[in-house]
Amino acid sequence: MDKIWVLAEQRDGEPSTIALELLAAARSFGGAVQAITWGAGATDAAAVLGEHGATKVFDAGDLGGSLPGPRVAGALEALIASEGAPGALLVGQTYDGRDVAGRLSARIDRPVLTNIAGLTEQDGSLVSEHAIFGGTQVLTARFTGEGPGIFVVRPKSFAAESAGGGAPEIVSIELPDTGATDGAKVLGRHEEERSGPKLDEATVVVSGGRGLGASEGYALIEELAKLLNGAAGASRAIVDAGWVPYSHQVGQTGKTVKPTVYIACGISGATQHMVGMKSSKNIIAINKDESAPIFSIADLGVVGDVHKVLPKLIEAIKARQ
Ligand SMILES: Cc1cc2nc3c(=O)[nH]c(=O)nc-3n(C[C@H](O)[C@H](O)[C@H](O)COP(=O)(O)OP(=O)(O)OC[C@H]3O[C@@H](n4cnc5c(N)ncnc54)[C@H](O)[C@@H]3O)c2cc1C
Repeated sequence: MDKIWVLAEQRDGEPSTIALELLAAARSFGGAVQAITWGAGATDAAAVLGEHGATKVFDAGDLGGSLPGPRVAGALEALIASEGAPGALLVGQTYDGRDVAGRLSARIDRPVLTNIAGLTEQDGSLVSEHAIFGGTQVLTARFTGEGPGIFVVRPKSFAAESAGGGAPEIVSIELPDTGATDGAKVLGRHEEERSGPKLDEATVVVSGGRGLGASEGYALIEELAKLLNGAAGASRAIVDAGWVPYSHQVGQTGKTVKPTVYIACGISGATQHMVGMKSSKNIIAINKDESAPIFSIADLGVVGDVHKVLPKLIEAIKARQ
Protein backbone atom coordinates (compact mmCIF):
# COMPACT_ATOMS: atom_id res chain seq x y z
CA MET A 1 0.00 0.00 0.00
CA ASP A 2 1.57 3.32 -1.16
CA LYS A 3 0.10 5.57 1.47
CA ILE A 4 -2.32 5.51 4.37
CA TRP A 5 -4.08 8.56 5.79
CA VAL A 6 -4.96 8.92 9.44
CA LEU A 7 -7.62 11.35 10.61
CA ALA A 8 -5.86 12.90 13.61
CA GLU A 9 -8.11 14.71 16.06
CA GLN A 10 -6.24 17.08 18.36
CA ARG A 11 -7.05 19.65 21.04
CA ASP A 12 -4.76 22.61 21.81
CA GLY A 13 -1.74 20.93 20.27
CA GLU A 14 -2.26 17.53 21.84
CA PRO A 15 -3.29 14.72 19.50
CA SER A 16 -5.99 12.41 20.81
CA THR A 17 -4.79 9.01 22.03
CA ILE A 18 -6.75 7.28 19.27
CA ALA A 19 -4.90 9.33 16.62
CA LEU A 20 -1.59 7.99 17.97
CA GLU A 21 -3.00 4.45 18.09
CA LEU A 22 -4.04 4.74 14.43
CA LEU A 23 -0.58 6.02 13.46
CA ALA A 24 0.98 2.96 15.12
CA ALA A 25 -1.36 0.73 13.11
CA ALA A 26 -0.72 2.63 9.85
CA ARG A 27 3.07 2.38 10.33
CA SER A 28 2.94 -1.38 10.53
CA PHE A 29 1.83 -1.63 6.89
CA GLY A 30 5.01 -0.12 5.50
CA GLY A 31 3.71 2.63 3.17
CA ALA A 32 3.86 6.40 3.65
CA VAL A 33 1.84 7.54 6.66
CA GLN A 34 0.15 10.93 6.39
CA ALA A 35 -2.23 12.63 8.80
CA ILE A 36 -5.06 15.14 8.46
CA THR A 37 -5.69 17.48 11.36
CA TRP A 38 -7.38 20.81 12.13
CA GLY A 39 -8.01 23.42 14.80
CA ALA A 40 -5.95 25.69 17.07
CA GLY A 41 -2.62 24.12 17.99
CA ALA A 42 -2.40 22.00 14.84
CA THR A 43 1.28 22.90 14.32
CA ASP A 44 2.23 21.65 17.79
CA ALA A 45 0.11 18.56 17.26
CA ALA A 46 1.86 17.94 13.93
CA ALA A 47 5.22 17.63 15.71
CA VAL A 48 3.80 14.84 17.90
CA LEU A 49 2.17 13.19 14.89
CA GLY A 50 5.62 13.25 13.23
CA GLU A 51 7.18 11.54 16.25
CA HIS A 52 4.56 8.85 15.83
CA GLY A 53 5.36 8.25 12.18
CA ALA A 54 3.43 10.79 10.07
CA THR A 55 5.77 12.15 7.39
CA LYS A 56 3.24 14.67 6.11
CA VAL A 57 0.46 16.47 7.98
CA PHE A 58 -2.38 18.19 6.13
CA ASP A 59 -3.66 21.04 8.29
CA ALA A 60 -7.20 22.20 7.57
CA GLY A 61 -6.74 25.13 9.98
CA ASP A 62 -9.30 26.80 12.19
CA LEU A 63 -12.86 25.59 11.64
CA GLY A 64 -14.29 28.90 12.85
CA GLY A 65 -16.72 27.31 15.31
CA SER A 66 -18.00 24.70 12.86
CA LEU A 67 -18.36 21.04 13.69
CA PRO A 68 -15.53 19.05 12.07
CA GLY A 69 -17.91 16.69 10.23
CA PRO A 70 -19.02 18.74 7.23
CA ARG A 71 -15.89 20.81 6.76
CA VAL A 72 -13.25 18.13 7.26
CA ALA A 73 -15.18 15.66 5.07
CA GLY A 74 -15.31 18.35 2.37
CA ALA A 75 -11.59 19.03 2.76
CA LEU A 76 -10.84 15.30 2.49
CA GLU A 77 -12.86 14.99 -0.70
CA ALA A 78 -10.87 17.87 -2.22
CA LEU A 79 -7.62 16.35 -0.95
CA ILE A 80 -8.39 13.01 -2.58
CA ALA A 81 -9.01 14.84 -5.86
CA SER A 82 -5.75 16.82 -5.66
CA GLU A 83 -3.38 14.30 -4.03
CA GLY A 84 -4.84 11.02 -5.21
CA ALA A 85 -6.69 8.55 -3.01
CA PRO A 86 -4.76 6.79 -0.24
CA GLY A 87 -4.94 3.00 0.02
CA ALA A 88 -6.88 3.48 3.24
CA LEU A 89 -8.18 6.20 5.53
CA LEU A 90 -8.09 5.28 9.23
CA VAL A 91 -10.59 7.11 11.43
CA GLY A 92 -11.06 6.79 15.18
CA GLN A 93 -14.47 5.67 16.40
CA THR A 94 -15.26 8.95 18.15
CA TYR A 95 -18.20 11.33 17.71
CA ASP A 96 -16.32 13.55 15.25
CA GLY A 97 -14.55 10.64 13.57
CA ARG A 98 -17.83 8.92 12.80
CA ASP A 99 -19.33 12.18 11.56
CA VAL A 100 -16.43 12.81 9.18
CA ALA A 101 -16.43 9.18 7.95
CA GLY A 102 -20.16 9.14 7.21
CA ARG A 103 -20.12 12.44 5.36
CA LEU A 104 -17.02 11.52 3.36
CA SER A 105 -18.62 8.21 2.45
CA ALA A 106 -21.60 10.04 0.95
CA ARG A 107 -19.37 12.55 -0.84
CA ILE A 108 -17.08 10.03 -2.55
CA ASP A 109 -19.64 7.24 -2.82
CA ARG A 110 -17.58 4.68 -0.90
CA PRO A 111 -18.82 2.50 1.97
CA VAL A 112 -17.46 2.61 5.50
CA LEU A 113 -16.33 -0.28 7.71
CA THR A 114 -16.98 0.48 11.39
CA ASN A 115 -16.40 -1.02 14.83
CA ILE A 116 -12.99 -2.34 13.79
CA ALA A 117 -10.93 -4.05 16.48
CA GLY A 118 -7.95 -5.12 14.36
CA LEU A 119 -6.33 -4.64 10.94
CA THR A 120 -4.06 -6.88 8.89
CA GLU A 121 -2.75 -6.67 5.33
CA GLN A 122 -3.46 -9.26 2.67
CA ASP A 123 -2.46 -9.03 -1.00
CA GLY A 124 -1.76 -5.31 -0.68
CA SER A 125 -5.08 -4.33 0.89
CA LEU A 126 -6.29 -4.01 4.45
CA VAL A 127 -8.50 -6.60 6.10
CA SER A 128 -10.46 -5.41 9.11
CA GLU A 129 -11.50 -7.46 12.13
CA HIS A 130 -14.82 -6.92 13.88
CA ALA A 131 -15.89 -8.51 17.16
CA ILE A 132 -19.44 -9.81 16.80
CA PHE A 133 -21.93 -11.65 19.04
CA GLY A 134 -20.63 -9.79 22.09
CA GLY A 135 -17.01 -10.44 21.23
CA THR A 136 -17.31 -14.22 20.98
CA GLN A 137 -16.62 -14.31 17.21
CA VAL A 138 -14.35 -12.30 14.92
CA LEU A 139 -15.61 -11.33 11.48
CA THR A 140 -13.18 -10.13 8.79
CA ALA A 141 -14.00 -7.72 5.98
CA ARG A 142 -12.25 -5.94 3.13
CA PHE A 143 -13.09 -3.39 0.48
CA THR A 144 -13.29 -4.28 -3.18
CA GLY A 145 -13.35 -1.87 -6.10
CA GLU A 146 -11.68 1.47 -6.66
CA GLY A 147 -11.15 4.28 -4.21
CA PRO A 148 -10.02 4.60 -0.61
CA GLY A 149 -11.36 2.26 2.04
CA ILE A 150 -12.72 4.17 5.05
CA PHE A 151 -11.92 2.22 8.22
CA VAL A 152 -13.46 3.37 11.52
CA VAL A 153 -11.44 1.83 14.34
CA ARG A 154 -12.39 1.36 18.00
CA PRO A 155 -10.14 3.00 20.61
CA LYS A 156 -7.58 0.71 22.28
CA SER A 157 -7.41 -1.62 19.29
CA PHE A 158 -3.72 -0.74 18.89
CA ALA A 159 -1.06 0.47 21.30
CA ALA A 160 0.15 4.03 20.71
CA GLU A 161 3.93 4.06 20.47
CA SER A 162 6.39 6.72 19.41
CA ALA A 163 8.37 5.88 16.27
CA GLY A 164 11.03 8.48 17.03
CA GLY A 165 10.12 10.23 13.77
CA GLY A 166 11.23 13.73 12.86
CA ALA A 167 9.23 16.85 12.07
CA PRO A 168 6.71 16.16 9.31
CA GLU A 169 6.07 18.33 6.27
CA ILE A 170 3.03 20.49 7.11
CA VAL A 171 0.73 21.32 4.22
CA SER A 172 -2.13 23.79 4.72
CA ILE A 173 -5.29 22.78 2.96
CA GLU A 174 -8.39 24.77 2.06
CA LEU A 175 -11.71 24.25 3.77
CA PRO A 176 -14.36 24.17 1.07
CA ASP A 177 -17.65 26.00 1.38
CA THR A 178 -20.01 23.31 2.60
CA GLY A 179 -23.18 25.39 2.47
CA ALA A 180 -26.17 24.42 4.57
CA THR A 181 -24.53 21.23 5.89
CA ASP A 182 -22.28 23.50 7.94
CA GLY A 183 -25.17 25.22 9.72
CA ALA A 184 -24.49 23.90 13.22
CA LYS A 185 -22.00 25.93 15.26
CA VAL A 186 -20.17 25.06 18.46
CA LEU A 187 -21.13 27.76 20.98
CA GLY A 188 -19.32 26.43 24.03
CA ARG A 189 -17.44 23.50 25.45
CA HIS A 190 -17.93 22.01 28.90
CA GLU A 191 -15.35 19.68 30.35
CA GLU A 192 -16.86 17.00 32.52
CA GLU A 193 -15.59 17.42 36.07
CA ARG A 194 -13.28 14.61 36.93
CA SER A 195 -10.65 13.97 39.55
CA GLY A 196 -8.06 11.28 38.85
CA PRO A 197 -7.15 9.65 35.55
CA LYS A 198 -9.39 9.22 32.51
CA LEU A 199 -11.31 5.95 32.43
CA ASP A 200 -9.76 4.72 29.19
CA GLU A 201 -6.23 5.72 30.19
CA ALA A 202 -6.17 4.67 33.86
CA THR A 203 -3.85 1.87 35.02
CA VAL A 204 -6.43 0.84 37.64
CA VAL A 205 -10.17 0.73 36.95
CA VAL A 206 -12.74 -0.10 39.62
CA SER A 207 -16.18 -0.75 38.13
CA GLY A 208 -19.53 -1.24 39.78
CA GLY A 209 -22.65 -3.03 38.62
CA ARG A 210 -26.21 -3.75 39.69
CA GLY A 211 -24.89 -5.79 42.61
CA LEU A 212 -24.22 -2.49 44.39
CA GLY A 213 -27.95 -2.46 45.06
CA ALA A 214 -28.58 1.29 44.79
CA SER A 215 -26.91 4.42 43.44
CA GLU A 216 -25.52 5.19 46.93
CA GLY A 217 -23.44 2.01 46.68
CA TYR A 218 -21.38 3.63 43.92
CA ALA A 219 -19.64 5.80 46.54
CA LEU A 220 -17.67 2.66 47.52
CA ILE A 221 -16.47 2.30 43.92
CA GLU A 222 -15.40 5.94 43.78
CA GLU A 223 -13.63 5.73 47.12
CA LEU A 224 -11.70 2.59 46.18
CA ALA A 225 -10.81 4.02 42.76
CA LYS A 226 -9.50 7.19 44.38
CA LEU A 227 -7.42 5.29 46.93
CA LEU A 228 -5.82 3.28 44.12
CA ASN A 229 -5.32 6.39 41.97
CA GLY A 230 -7.60 4.78 39.41
CA ALA A 231 -10.80 5.58 37.54
CA ALA A 232 -14.36 4.53 38.36
CA GLY A 233 -16.23 2.54 35.71
CA ALA A 234 -19.68 1.00 35.47
CA SER A 235 -21.79 -1.63 33.80
CA ARG A 236 -24.51 -0.49 31.46
CA ALA A 237 -27.18 -1.70 33.88
CA ILE A 238 -26.36 1.08 36.34
CA VAL A 239 -25.85 3.68 33.63
CA ASP A 240 -29.31 2.86 32.24
CA ALA A 241 -30.68 3.02 35.80
CA GLY A 242 -29.35 6.59 36.05
CA TRP A 243 -26.92 5.88 38.92
CA VAL A 244 -23.89 7.17 36.99
CA PRO A 245 -23.35 9.06 33.71
CA TYR A 246 -22.76 7.25 30.42
CA SER A 247 -19.12 8.42 30.37
CA HIS A 248 -18.43 5.74 33.03
CA GLN A 249 -19.77 2.85 30.98
CA VAL A 250 -17.39 0.04 30.06
CA GLY A 251 -18.29 -2.39 27.31
CA GLN A 252 -19.50 -2.88 23.78
CA THR A 253 -21.49 0.34 23.72
CA GLY A 254 -19.26 2.12 26.24
CA LYS A 255 -15.51 2.49 26.63
CA THR A 256 -12.88 -0.14 26.00
CA VAL A 257 -10.33 -0.25 28.81
CA LYS A 258 -7.03 -2.11 29.17
CA PRO A 259 -5.74 -1.24 32.65
CA THR A 260 -3.13 -3.15 34.62
CA VAL A 261 -5.82 -3.95 37.19
CA TYR A 262 -9.59 -4.09 36.61
CA ILE A 263 -11.80 -4.68 39.64
CA ALA A 264 -15.38 -5.68 38.78
CA CYS A 265 -17.73 -5.27 41.75
CA GLY A 266 -21.24 -6.71 41.58
CA ILE A 267 -21.00 -7.17 37.80
CA SER A 268 -22.28 -10.43 36.33
CA GLY A 269 -19.98 -10.48 33.28
CA ALA A 270 -22.35 -10.21 30.33
CA THR A 271 -20.45 -10.60 27.04
CA GLN A 272 -21.25 -6.96 26.19
CA HIS A 273 -19.44 -5.86 29.37
CA MET A 274 -16.54 -8.28 29.04
CA VAL A 275 -15.74 -7.22 25.47
CA GLY A 276 -14.78 -3.82 26.87
CA MET A 277 -12.46 -5.00 29.66
CA LYS A 278 -11.32 -8.57 29.02
CA SER A 279 -7.90 -7.42 27.73
CA SER A 280 -7.09 -5.92 31.15
CA LYS A 281 -3.83 -7.34 32.50
CA ASN A 282 -5.21 -8.51 35.85
CA ILE A 283 -8.92 -8.93 36.50
CA ILE A 284 -10.34 -9.12 40.00
CA ALA A 285 -14.04 -9.91 40.41
CA ILE A 286 -16.17 -9.57 43.51
CA ASN A 287 -19.57 -11.22 43.21
CA LYS A 288 -21.79 -13.08 45.63
CA ASP A 289 -22.76 -15.65 42.99
CA GLU A 290 -19.89 -18.11 42.49
CA SER A 291 -21.26 -19.10 39.08
CA ALA A 292 -21.26 -15.50 37.73
CA PRO A 293 -19.66 -15.47 34.22
CA ILE A 294 -17.22 -12.73 35.24
CA PHE A 295 -15.28 -15.36 37.22
CA SER A 296 -14.50 -17.19 33.96
CA ILE A 297 -12.08 -14.40 32.98
CA ALA A 298 -10.99 -13.30 36.45
CA ASP A 299 -7.41 -13.80 37.65
CA LEU A 300 -8.66 -13.41 41.21
CA GLY A 301 -12.25 -14.10 42.22
CA VAL A 302 -13.78 -13.10 45.53
CA VAL A 303 -17.13 -14.74 46.26
CA GLY A 304 -18.77 -12.32 48.62
CA ASP A 305 -21.06 -9.38 49.22
CA VAL A 306 -19.68 -6.10 47.84
CA HIS A 307 -21.12 -4.28 50.85
CA LYS A 308 -18.90 -6.35 53.12
CA VAL A 309 -15.82 -6.88 50.93
CA LEU A 310 -15.38 -3.31 49.63
CA PRO A 311 -15.46 -1.54 53.04
CA LYS A 312 -12.92 -4.08 54.37
CA LEU A 313 -10.70 -3.55 51.33
CA ILE A 314 -10.93 0.23 51.66
CA GLU A 315 -10.12 -0.02 55.37
CA ALA A 316 -7.11 -2.27 54.70
CA ILE A 317 -5.73 0.07 52.02
CA LYS A 318 -6.21 3.10 54.26
CA ALA A 319 -4.37 1.32 57.07
CA ARG A 320 -1.36 0.87 54.78
CA GLN A 321 -1.18 4.53 53.72
C1 LIG B 1 -26.65 -4.20 22.37
C2 LIG B 1 -26.24 -4.27 23.80
C3 LIG B 1 -25.15 -3.54 24.21
C4 LIG B 1 -24.75 -3.57 25.54
N1 LIG B 1 -23.64 -2.85 25.91
C5 LIG B 1 -23.20 -2.97 27.18
C6 LIG B 1 -22.00 -2.29 27.60
O1 LIG B 1 -21.37 -1.56 26.84
N2 LIG B 1 -21.60 -2.47 28.87
C7 LIG B 1 -22.27 -3.25 29.77
O2 LIG B 1 -21.84 -3.35 30.93
N3 LIG B 1 -23.40 -3.88 29.40
C8 LIG B 1 -23.89 -3.74 28.15
N4 LIG B 1 -25.05 -4.35 27.80
C9 LIG B 1 -25.88 -4.94 28.88
C10 LIG B 1 -25.43 -6.32 29.31
O3 LIG B 1 -26.04 -7.29 28.49
C11 LIG B 1 -25.85 -6.58 30.79
O4 LIG B 1 -27.24 -6.40 30.90
C12 LIG B 1 -25.17 -5.67 31.81
O5 LIG B 1 -23.77 -5.67 31.59
C13 LIG B 1 -25.46 -6.19 33.19
O6 LIG B 1 -24.94 -5.32 34.14
P1 LIG B 1 -24.59 -5.86 35.61
O7 LIG B 1 -23.57 -6.92 35.51
O8 LIG B 1 -24.28 -4.65 36.44
O9 LIG B 1 -25.98 -6.40 36.12
P2 LIG B 1 -26.49 -7.87 36.33
O10 LIG B 1 -26.32 -8.70 35.11
O11 LIG B 1 -27.86 -7.76 36.91
O12 LIG B 1 -25.51 -8.49 37.42
C14 LIG B 1 -25.44 -8.10 38.73
C15 LIG B 1 -24.46 -9.02 39.43
O13 LIG B 1 -24.29 -8.58 40.77
C16 LIG B 1 -24.21 -9.71 41.61
N5 LIG B 1 -24.62 -9.26 42.93
C17 LIG B 1 -25.87 -8.93 43.37
N6 LIG B 1 -25.82 -8.47 44.65
C18 LIG B 1 -24.51 -8.54 45.02
C19 LIG B 1 -23.82 -8.21 46.20
N7 LIG B 1 -24.46 -7.69 47.27
N8 LIG B 1 -22.48 -8.41 46.24
C20 LIG B 1 -21.80 -8.93 45.18
N9 LIG B 1 -22.42 -9.25 44.03
C21 LIG B 1 -23.74 -9.04 43.94
C22 LIG B 1 -25.15 -10.72 41.01
O14 LIG B 1 -24.77 -12.03 41.41
C23 LIG B 1 -24.93 -10.47 39.51
O15 LIG B 1 -23.91 -11.32 39.01
C24 LIG B 1 -25.48 -4.34 26.48
C25 LIG B 1 -26.58 -5.06 26.06
C26 LIG B 1 -26.96 -5.03 24.74
C27 LIG B 1 -28.15 -5.82 24.31
